[in-house]
Amino acid sequence: MVAAKRLLERLGDKAEITMVSDQDYYSFPPFFTNVALGDMEPQETSLPLSRLVERGARVVKARITGFQPENRKVLTDSGELTYDYLLASLGIEYDMKAYGLEAGVHNFTLDGAMKMRDALASFKGGKVVVFTPSPMYRCGIYPFEIANMLVETFAKKGLREKSSVTLVHPFKRPLEPLGEEAIKITEESFQEHGVQYVGGARPVGVDSSRKVVEVEGESFPYDLLVTVPPITMPSPFKGSGLTANTPVGEWTAVDPATGRNPRYDDVFLPGEHSMPFLGLPTAGVPVHFTSLASASAIEAEVVGQSVEPGQISAMVCAMDYGDRGVVINCDVTGGKRGLAWTGDHYQFLDEGLRWTGSCYSVLTSPLGRYVKDMFYRSFLLTSM
Ligand SMILES: Cc1cc2nc3c(=O)[nH]c(=O)nc-3n(C[C@H](O)[C@H](O)[C@H](O)COP(=O)(O)OP(=O)(O)OC[C@H]3O[C@@H](n4cnc5c(N)ncnc54)[C@H](O)[C@@H]3O)c2cc1C
Repeated sequence: MVAAKRLLERLGDKAEITMVSDQDYYSFPPFFTNVALGDMEPQETSLPLSRLVERGARVVKARITGFQPENRKVLTDSGELTYDYLLASLGIEYDMKAYGLEAGVHNFTLDGAMKMRDALASFKGGKVVVFTPSPMYRCGIYPFEIANMLVETFAKKGLREKSSVTLVHPFKRPLEPLGEEAIKITEESFQEHGVQYVGGARPVGVDSSRKVVEVEGESFPYDLLVTVPPITMPSPFKGSGLTANTPVGEWTAVDPATGRNPRYDDVFLPGEHSMPFLGLPTAGVPVHFTSLASASAIEAEVVGQSVEPGQISAMVCAMDYGDRGVVINCDVTGGKRGLAWTGDHYQFLDEGLRWTGSCYSVLTSPLGRYVKDMFYRSFLLTSM
């Protein structure tokens, strides 16, 4: 969507741009949290793709089932499409059943958010466990935000004294990859909010008959379970030749400066499914910058001029901790990527982009909540 808008603005009638989506609208996932907490209505979380039609794009509603980059084809449930350039950004797939997670509620889909809203509306106090079994999940900051936000939500309803929030997470310390400042701010917020943090947890799973979350050596009873599902690469990429084996599983492979696939130079994959390959978090901010870089690279080739690719040089994490907002910036450097073709798949060789160790706090203040809110609302409103 970000790249399509940029290409429509820059290329005008020099290109024919087709958006393929399985929905008539684009839903902005971070707002699902606002829906779950009762702060936003479902219709506020999305924009219709017809806005792109007004800008000159063709929109095709279809479910993509596969890619044939060798034939320049996209396979869908209603036929095939051909292209000169392909730019794909399909997000991720959730494993909602891993570790017995289906016993809980979540806000990783709009439908899930509405169920979580109902569960919170009928919650009269008790033990809440937020269970993050795997470090591979969407939006690294989410579990730390929701734990704090739940406490504030309960306080507003007069339930704070009657409830407890426990976050079970694989990181030894909260928000560990963002460095000492972020850890300290989060630990302080947990302390003030009374959130119990169970770090470095080795998950066993949810026992829904006993209503407990089990980790190695311990179990945590819950009255309300909030889950954070593990993620995998979207299945249409499987067997496409566009993927690589990384230390964290099979993900799409791209060049860090442009989001271009190393094997097929007419394919750009700036979606969340390429972030693990780049060593970046599976989050929207790096996806946004990679998408702009991909659009710039395509634009340069179509107009036959050199266009500076929009490099990813910084990553902003804007967090809502319920009573305060926290903004952390991470500088992003490096990005040499080596790939070897083994005969049937890519072998992942080098290190990814570097950002851990270069994060610093920009803002911790009640005002920071509005900064995040404005940042996200304006992103969605200006995105098409
Ligand atoms: C609760 C929550 C909070 C978040 N908070 C933040 C945050 O604070 N900061 C941050 O940076 N990121 C956050 N994220 C993550 C962010 O939303 C994603 O990283 C980002 O949306 C990924 O962009 P994408 O284009 O790859 O995927 P998506 O935004 O998921 O878009 C993929 C699109 O492709 C369509 N699609 C998928 N599969 C197919 C198919 N087979 N055929 C046709 N169409 C298909 C989908 O309908 C969708 O429109 C959050 C996510 C969630 C769920």
